[in-house]
Amino acid sequence: MSSIVYFADMRTKKGASLPEKLEVMFKELAVFRNIKKDELTAITLHFGERGTTGFVRPLYIRRIVNLVREAGGKPFLTDANTLYRGLRSNAVDHMSLAMEHGFSYASVSAPVIIADGLRGKDYVQVEVNGKYFKKVKIASAAHHADSLISVAHVKGHVLFGFGGAIKNIGMGLGARSGKQMMHADLKPEIIPEKCIGCGMCVEWCPTGSLALAKLGGRDKPLSVLNPATCIGCGECVVTCPNEAIKISWSGAPQAVQEKTVEFASAIIRQKPHKVGAINFLMNISPDCDCFSHTDASIVADIGVLASDDIVAVDRASVDLVNQSPALQNTALTPGKVADSDKFGAIHNVDWSYQLTYAEQIGLGSTKYELRRI
Ligand code: SF4
Ligand code: SF4
Repeated sequence: MSSIVYFADMRTKKGASLPEKLEVMFKELAVFRNIKKDELTAITLHFGERGTTGFVRPLYIRRIVNLVREAGGKPFLTDANTLYRGLRSNAVDHMSLAMEHGFSYASVSAPVIIADGLRGKDYVQVEVNGKYFKKVKIASAAHHADSLISVAHVKGHVLFGFGGAIKNIGMGLGARSGKQMMHADLKPEIIPEKCIGCGMCVEWCPTGSLALAKLGGRDKPLSVLNPATCIGCGECVVTCPNEAIKISWSGAPQAVQEKTVEFASAIIRQKPHKVGAINFLMNISPDCDCFSHTDASIVADIGVLASDDIVAVDRASVDLVNQSPALQNTALTPGKVADSDKFGAIHNVDWSYQLTYAEQIGLGSTKYELRRI
């Protein structure tokens, strides 16, 4: 059976601005009909690491907040802390950065609550009985919320190929130790010929698993990994300025994607008919908003999708990106222009694991009907 995915493209006209057009579309989501009076409604989104510019703008979030209130709910914005060091690994830094990026009460008309608390230790263990996990660690505010609206910035991702609603919910709302469970298969590998011994990876590694050492008669130091303490967060990979650290895959993308689906399922199944997904296909950057920069968009802005089905909305998002002409002077060029699979061409990762597994365990459908607003 196919699911309905609503689509608002970027065209506007006098008297119908994009926020107004989006509001009409958002109202189609079942979650807005099912929110009961005074229900606590989580709007989950990525506030962007410092230096990024691609995250969803607060002015759109405010429209969603208003709709939740109109429906009788009490909205709050949320995300859980990150595994990697950076400005979102504890609630104080995370909330400060959210504020810096415009997610203040004055702008969005709702409070920001970091879902897994001050140091990322507030979580609830939820049974999933999945292929990987019996129980998963869900950030407590996400678990205790009555309803949930995922607002995802669709973009590329080194492990997922692309990130949309599934990643936003599953990885985004896993508590810090839950994120560690999802990343456990990932181990980085240093490429000695490329390492210039700058030490940036050593500085950023949250577990002290990297150190500089002079090896093999080299006159310059080289980053060396201690695999025993590495938690697979991938922070070193995104930090290295010289692409001298690669991920030792050996099945990692499939496992990480599928584990994330199990986390997402723990959240979604606990709120039947009370989860909506909104995917913004704007500023479609090659990499995730956890980076400290946002590279040029690989295609022009497409619009916004919304659905009650997180699988369908993600599938439609990839399809629309792949149907759009590649832009020049982006991560897709030179030699990487692909009309059929843009995210795959950039990251050399099969992004479909997350969709296939999510469909297999009944979280949604990859078949959809696109309904234009
Ligand atoms: S950040 Fe990259 S170049 Fe610098 S020490 Fe680490 S691996 Fe080597
Ligand atoms: S060495 Fe391991 S723990 Fe340290 S930043 Fe890299 S992936 Fe994370």
